[in-house]
Amino acid sequence: MRIILLGPPGAGKGTQSKLLCRQFGIPPLSTGDILRSAISQQTALGLQAKETVDAGGLVGDDIVNGCVIERISEQDSQNGFILDGYPRTLEQAAYLERELNARGLSIDIALELVVDADQLSKRIARRASEAASEGREQRADDTEETLRARLENYREKTAPLTEFYRERGILKQVDGLADVDTVTSHLLLAIESATSRGFPSA
Ligand code: AMP
Repeated sequence: MRIILLGPPGAGKGTQSKLLCRQFGIPPLSTGDILRSAISQQTALGLQAKETVDAGGLVGDDIVNGCVIERISEQDSQNGFILDGYPRTLEQAAYLERELNARGLSIDIALELVVDADQLSKRIARRASEAASEGREQRADDTEETLRARLENYREKTAPLTEFYRERGILKQVDGLADVDTVTSHLLLAIESATSRGFPSA
């Protein structure tokens, strides 16, 4: 099962991706997590990406494409994976499609979490204050200014992916504003109807 989770920053992709991956026994693959971990370990990739990530910009396609191909070639991705935060541009989507096709594979379903812009600002503000009150480090890019940049990039570069996957007949949209459990069950229903395979036993 190869799934893409689409949706604006703060829509809950990370949370849902991890919950669904647990259900299906496949790994979550978040380019944001890969980049954050590279930044905190100060690897060559991290040093290259830090400034862009901190500013809420988009890291170059070549860099993220390389990370994703490396990750999906690993053993634990052979039964599937859920991509969260990738692809984020039409170029990345076309690249992913080509690379999967070359391996005789394809994406089964692109799930989009639909959330309006006002709600997103509130969610991001809440995520920052929860991190602060729990003594966790706030994501460097969860601030008002970078949120604006991230939303702008989303509208301009990532939103067109909705049409890209709709044209391929694999897009399913789910209301991302409901509570976490409701969103998860709607996503599971969408996956079930797309794959007609039924749920794995939990
Ligand atoms: P996320 O956790 O998905 O919100 O990603 C955090 C940040 O990592 C983004 O704001 C970008 O700076 C960078 N990033 C993550 N995924 C991508 C991607 N597919 N393409 C470009 N930049 C990315």
